[in-house]
Amino acid sequence: MKVYTFPQGGIHFTDPTAPLAAESVVAFLPVLSVIPLVQHPGAKALPLVAGGSSVREGMLIGRAQGPGSAHIHATVPGQVVRMVSWEMTEGITNEGLVIRLKGSFEQLGKPEERFSWERLEPGELQRHIVEYGIVEMEGSGRPLADLFASLNKIPEPITLVVRCVFDDPWLVADYVLCRERATAVVEGSIILGRACGVSHIVYAVSAKEKALGTMLLAEAQSYDIPASLVLVSSRYPQRNPRELELALRMYEARGKREHPAGPALGSLLIQGPATLAAVRDALVLHRPILDRYVAVGGSGVKNPQVMKVRIGTRIGDLFAECGGFTGEPQRIILGSPLSGRRVFEKNLDEPVIKTSYALSALLAKQIGGRVVRNCIGCGACRTVCPVGLDPEALFKGLVFFKKKQEQNSGRAVECHGCGCCDLVCPSRFSLSTAIVNAALGEH
Ligand code: SF4
Ligand code: SF4
Repeated sequence: MKVYTFPQGGIHFTDPTAPLAAESVVAFLPVLSVIPLVQHPGAKALPLVAGGSSVREGMLIGRAQGPGSAHIHATVPGQVVRMVSWEMTEGITNEGLVIRLKGSFEQLGKPEERFSWERLEPGELQRHIVEYGIVEMEGSGRPLADLFASLNKIPEPITLVVRCVFDDPWLVADYVLCRERATAVVEGSIILGRACGVSHIVYAVSAKEKALGTMLLAEAQSYDIPASLVLVSSRYPQRNPRELELALRMYEARGKREHPAGPALGSLLIQGPATLAAVRDALVLHRPILDRYVAVGGSGVKNPQVMKVRIGTRIGDLFAECGGFTGEPQRIILGSPLSGRRVFEKNLDEPVIKTSYALSALLAKQIGGRVVRNCIGCGACRTVCPVGLDPEALFKGLVFFKKKQEQNSGRAVECHGCGCCDLVCPSRFSLSTAIVNAALGEH
């Protein structure tokens, strides 16, 4: 099978400190969970319980407030102890409800009761998905409610793209989830496909995981939405929406050449496997997002592993379950070290949220001395930019000559912040940050 990709730039990214793609390990249930009221890009969910309240596993405890906001549910049964707040990055705080584990679980350890969704209309499917607070778990946590609200602006036909693209070793938790829950991922894609009225589903899978793609496609054959498997490269940033769409448009163009009357992909709606498994659980089990797969590792961690973790578990507990630290970590990162968020002041009390797909502790040697030197004009940043920008020229114009982005060819807005240029720059310039900030008008 042909492998599709984007035409220029990118890097092959490896990291021996990421966990291996072995079976997941179920993390211990925390005695105290912290359930954040912000696990999405919008406004804080409105708390519905207070200190002293008893909560059940899966109970609604925070109500969404407008676009960008999603419902929040208790992930363990117990009693609300208090409300806490903490700084996530400088000046940006979050708040959460502390729940002391108590009482019995309604779902965990019980046989799964299966609810039927097959006869539900698209609007009813959407209502269920919104009710269970499902968000895009591989990205910023955008609620699927926002996607449903924008559907009438998306031109038909629509293709749902199931993104199983592993261009970063820190996406290993997604990979393990795909292997362990392939049936749920496919059923979730069919449910979301019906809810959004898609005419086609494409499983976009890294070519090195062709066996996984074949398995997903075989599962999908038992449903009535036409499905295809498209193999794509693992060159970073292949999973970025722009680069993934470029690869899929090449696949579409080739199909058109071979079958001119064949169907077109139309608008692409890209979703990841964790989100789709959550959609399936919402409809089939009537269950909100209670847990997620997290890759825990980095040079500072003794035994890196992929863990299945209850939302609200302290990240310090996960490091402890991985055997603790090998030395004093200089940096703790939620998400990939390439693109994730640095945990403010290495706060080990931060909880895992719906979007926490990876967690790493990095020793000084892994970070490397970022001593900034002069540009040596090597051109490496131009070679790897997938957009075809000249990061050196943009950076110098913006930072050294203080030109506005419009005076600087205006191309900074095309940068999608993949960070390839930073990774290869021998002079250690933070090129992507400067360029993205310029595009946002912060220079
Ligand atoms: S961060 Fe921006 S400028 Fe740098 S390689 Fe990526 S797209 Fe190009
Ligand atoms: S990679 Fe760094 S040193 Fe090389 S040209 Fe680009 S900015 Fe200059």
